[in-house]
Amino acid sequence: MVNLLPAMNPTTTTPLAPTKARQFLTDSDRKAFDLEHRRKIRFNIGKYNAAVQTGLGFYQDHELARARASYLKTQVINRLDEYLLQFEEKFTAKGGKVIWAQSAEEALFEVGKIMERRKARTVVKAKSMTTEEIHLNKYLEKRGIESVETDLGEFIVQLNGERPYHIVTPAMHLSKLDIADIFVKHLGIEYTDDAQKLVLTARHLLRDKYTAAEVGITGGNFLVADTGAVCVTENEGNARLSATFPKTHIAIVGIEKVIPRLQDLDLFWPLLSTSGTGQQVTVYNTIYTGPRQPLEKDGPEEMFVILLDNGRTNLLAQPDKREALNCIRCGACLNICPVYKNIGGHTYEATYSGPIGSVITPHLSGMAENKHLSYASSLCGACTSVCPVKIPIHNILLKNRQQSVQEGFTDKEERRAISLWLHGMKHRWVWDLAPASAKNWVLSRLLGEVGWSKRRDAVQVAPKTFRQLWKERK
Ligand code: SF4
Repeated sequence: MVNLLPAMNPTTTTPLAPTKARQFLTDSDRKAFDLEHRRKIRFNIGKYNAAVQTGLGFYQDHELARARASYLKTQVINRLDEYLLQFEEKFTAKGGKVIWAQSAEEALFEVGKIMERRKARTVVKAKSMTTEEIHLNKYLEKRGIESVETDLGEFIVQLNGERPYHIVTPAMHLSKLDIADIFVKHLGIEYTDDAQKLVLTARHLLRDKYTAAEVGITGGNFLVADTGAVCVTENEGNARLSATFPKTHIAIVGIEKVIPRLQDLDLFWPLLSTSGTGQQVTVYNTIYTGPRQPLEKDGPEEMFVILLDNGRTNLLAQPDKREALNCIRCGACLNICPVYKNIGGHTYEATYSGPIGSVITPHLSGMAENKHLSYASSLCGACTSVCPVKIPIHNILLKNRQQSVQEGFTDKEERRAISLWLHGMKHRWVWDLAPASAKNWVLSRLLGEVGWSKRRDAVQVAPKTFRQLWKERK
């Protein structure tokens, strides 16, 4: 029986993070029955899923590619320290600077120092989940620096004051008409539902920002250890412009993004694009190896890579769960997940939503506040079956549940219910004490507590047990 309600610290009676877990239940309930939301998500995810099926058809042996990618990423994660140092050595040899940030605060502090030195007033930003994770836009805004999202989806959600809905497609929850309304409201344009006109409006606005910005900030899809390179994958070319127009380029990248060799991109680029959007290869794949070199005509004067830990080493310290760090953020597990498709990305109240978000968020942001996400799964295993790096996502969700129990993040009622159940399972005669009507009464009370009966028929035990039926038959 799943209990998503607030856990109580066993040593005190203080509820642990009741607000987040309760809010999650309330929002899930609301979203799951919001038919308009469901229609949009089904439509948008449906398009991606169809494209992915076509994309997979181009592989001769997709299973082999997945196995190789999983093997390579696992090798890297098991020797992450060595690969990161190799990356640092190679990247700094070409004039780049590496900054190690243990937390979001450290990363923001370092960004702040660079902004101050460059006297930056405007930043152009390419889509990056690590910058969402450290709440970079809020930080820059507080310092009076304009931070402009240049990816179209991010630009739209930024205008609308929302967080990204999906790790690959941030505005997936919006229809063309929603976007038209947002543009009218925030940009004051005349209403149009012509998609091309809307795109041109955004493009026109953004072009000026690239040339005005002193600093460009991107994330990074891969860090190549043997070359000291940061690889950025995108479909619009905006990341390229953000990284090359301004005099300073900062890439904020999670430490788990390392791959060993440049030639491994041959494996990872198609896997990333096929699993995420169904493309054989994403439109723009750029490899940055440092600032502009002598005789080069473009590129930034200086380039920094901020290597972000922010809780990733918590996962690394747990060998049975560290495979979660293999993630290449393709988004496939979100698109296939029956829970994500019903409750949507914002309900998770986390930077990383969907199955992989439920796995890593408790480790990045605290088990007490986020253990409820481990239960936001039907454990059907669909996520695991589509993951291009073969992360056993639903198994790790179970391990997270186990960890949360071991660390005492369960409430008194839950512990009592489990021990009663355990006693009953071990002592068959207990079940025979009560008639079916009494069992039904207990079941309806227990299931009512966890919200089961709200939208489902009551669970009824059979009037006679199997043993009774068997006896009668003999
Ligand atoms: S866990 Fe796997 S499927 Fe999900 S985003 Fe990461 S790589 Fe993609």
